[in-house]
Amino acid sequence: MRILITNDDGIQSPGIFCLQQALRQVGEVTVVAPDRPRSASGHSITLHKPLRAARYQFSDGSWGYATNGTPTDCVTLGLDVLCREGVDLVVSGINDGANLGWDLTYSGTVSAAVEGAVHGKQSFAISLAYEEEGEELRYETAAAAAVRVAELLREHPLPPHSFLNVNAPNRPLSEVRGYSVVAQGRRQYSDRIEERVDPRGSPYYWMQGNVIEDYDQPGTDVHAVRHGYVAITPAHLDLTFYELIEPIAERLKQP
Ligand code: MN
Repeated sequence: MRILITNDDGIQSPGIFCLQQALRQVGEVTVVAPDRPRSASGHSITLHKPLRAARYQFSDGSWGYATNGTPTDCVTLGLDVLCREGVDLVVSGINDGANLGWDLTYSGTVSAAVEGAVHGKQSFAISLAYEEEGEELRYETAAAAAVRVAELLREHPLPPHSFLNVNAPNRPLSEVRGYSVVAQGRRQYSDRIEERVDPRGSPYYWMQGNVIEDYDQPGTDVHAVRHGYVAITPAHLDLTFYELIEPIAERLKQP
């Protein structure tokens, strides 16, 4: 199995190193990742400047490609140019932090998996969900989950243009309660903009905000991770709200 690995935290992040080490058990890996942090870049692509890919050596002596593009650019570069022998599976992560609920459209990590699905590849995103800054990060738990999911997709491929969003709880593997296949929950941010004043007296704004998660909804990713499960959410590229097609068409018929 040939596996293309990317992320949005940059090629130097510990998560992608851990992921590429683990996925070597499953197949032949090629890393194509941003040369700098690109978190929250969503599904953006680079149209107005050249893309470059430079060879990058990891601490164990293995090689990957660092690009000046977004996570989505990395997937396209990998699939169309750098992985000449083809790709069976696209994996994005291990993200430093959760990608749950409404994070999905902001996330560069998840958008790289979306891009894999756009290209008709088996694809998943893997994130490490911790609760407090400064916790010891258990990337090895997320890496073990990634191996399990990669093997699952090898045996049971997803339908075209779908993908999995996977979040592992930040705890030792022995304390993980299992896998929970769940829906997207709710996770949003409050008080997002902080207004400050620069030394010349002009206001500037800093995007931050506190996370609000709805932990009380069983059957969701937010709930599952909070309770110590690896959350797996099957997703597809179709955002259509089918139940609204007819009502809106009916309303438009009225003068
Ligand atoms: Mn990130």
